[in-house]
Amino acid sequence: MCGFVGIVSTRECAGDVLLALQALQHRGQDSAGVGMLAPGHFPLVKHLGLVSQGFSAEDLRLLPGRVGLGHVRYPTVGKGLIGDTQPFFYRQPGVLMAHNGNFMNVPAMHEELLGDSIHLLSRCDVEPVLCLFARELMRRRRREHSVDDALQAMRLCFEKARGAYSLVACLRLEGKETLLALRGPYGIRPAVWGSRGADFVVASESVALDLLGARRQGDVEPGEMLVLRAGEEPQRHQVWDARPAPCVFEYIYFARPDSIMNGESVYTVRRALGEYLAKAVRAKGIQADVVIPIPDTSRPAAGALAEALQLPYREGFIKNRYTGRTFIMASTSERQNALKMKLNPIRSEFAGRRVLVVDDSIVRGTTLNHTIQLIREQGATQVHLAIYSPPVMYPCYYGIDMSTREELAAARLLPDHTQGPLNKEQLRELEGRFAARLGLDSLTYLPIAGLRAAFDHPQCAACFDGVYPLPPTDQERAWIEEDRRACDQRELRF
Ligand code: SF4
Repeated sequence: MCGFVGIVSTRECAGDVLLALQALQHRGQDSAGVGMLAPGHFPLVKHLGLVSQGFSAEDLRLLPGRVGLGHVRYPTVGKGLIGDTQPFFYRQPGVLMAHNGNFMNVPAMHEELLGDSIHLLSRCDVEPVLCLFARELMRRRRREHSVDDALQAMRLCFEKARGAYSLVACLRLEGKETLLALRGPYGIRPAVWGSRGADFVVASESVALDLLGARRQGDVEPGEMLVLRAGEEPQRHQVWDARPAPCVFEYIYFARPDSIMNGESVYTVRRALGEYLAKAVRAKGIQADVVIPIPDTSRPAAGALAEALQLPYREGFIKNRYTGRTFIMASTSERQNALKMKLNPIRSEFAGRRVLVVDDSIVRGTTLNHTIQLIREQGATQVHLAIYSPPVMYPCYYGIDMSTREELAAARLLPDHTQGPLNKEQLRELEGRFAARLGLDSLTYLPIAGLRAAFDHPQCAACFDGVYPLPPTDQERAWIEEDRRACDQRELRF
């Protein structure tokens, strides 16, 4: 998962790029980069860590220009190294590019580029795409490229690049500073655009536009390329037929609740998921005294579930926002202490009560047993867990960091289930096994029908139902899994 922003303005805009990146910080904390199209050169500054910690006033002085791209990175391909940090730059004809998503066939693209003696500097998957795009532009003509050149080059480039993506690029076309925004035909990864006077902003989420005071104009539609120049009418080109399948996990977990994505409020969708989950809890006859969310993501769903079940809603955990990430801690005891630092319980909300705890999803389940243990230690008489998504049974090959089946807790508990969504009996079996493993009085997942009912448009739900809009080839799957295993030091037990 990553976040990007692109701005084309009538004035210097690196400061706005950095502001927008802070609104998107939840999409990636490993590293951040800003690149500008400045008169005579393309300055680039990259740092590891958070935007606010890495970038300084001195960096802003190094980033002149009225068109710029910014990126926050959470690696799903390659490691979180500074060399893999976006945006990337290619010298001929001078293009900057940043993306969100995952390209599944990096080795094949690399091979293709080597045929022209073009070498890569990094393991970041957008770099070969940038090289292919630049190569196609230069094949059309050596200089003074037109919008039509860019369109044709994108078409040819994406005949070679396979994956889920939205991206921004900037370069000079027809002698003018130009921002391009492109979203893959399935629209799996989000992209939204807006305007502020003569300026245009494109970003992974609308919260970046809100912060800049830009008016949201809509989504970059699946298969669409926007050509944006300050003070000019936007050009909208349908590059491929749209086959929309936006990622449902964005709504469940990744996106900020105040974002509007594909025309839908993330907050409203989360509340709807909570209402459907309440039906599943009620159908099981679960009795509880209080509903408590595991912060922060699950609050809207837990609130809606509590209202539907007419139960009191309480904050039982206080989150410390200033701790490090738990998975980089080497030992289990270090991670347990880190969890305590991160999530401190309010004993009075648990003691002597039957608590119904709500969470967004279970992926690896590595911290869940510690959380349940923490709740037991507060004197809860019963602990019921309700999850407002179905079991994650299948890997994601489209840019969310769960790309191997072996790391998925639910798949490990039902190893024989390898196709399609779980039926009712299989779901009950899994819930029972999970509850026993975690020491819960009950576990309730949102059934897949509840997930589908919460949306009024088609979506990708492949990690829940195994139906991939763009299935990877065996070769692509093997490469993605191998890359993750090589980079991943996480402990998979739970
Ligand atoms: S597989 Fe899951 S996480 Fe990946 S894009 Fe589809 S819905 Fe999102």
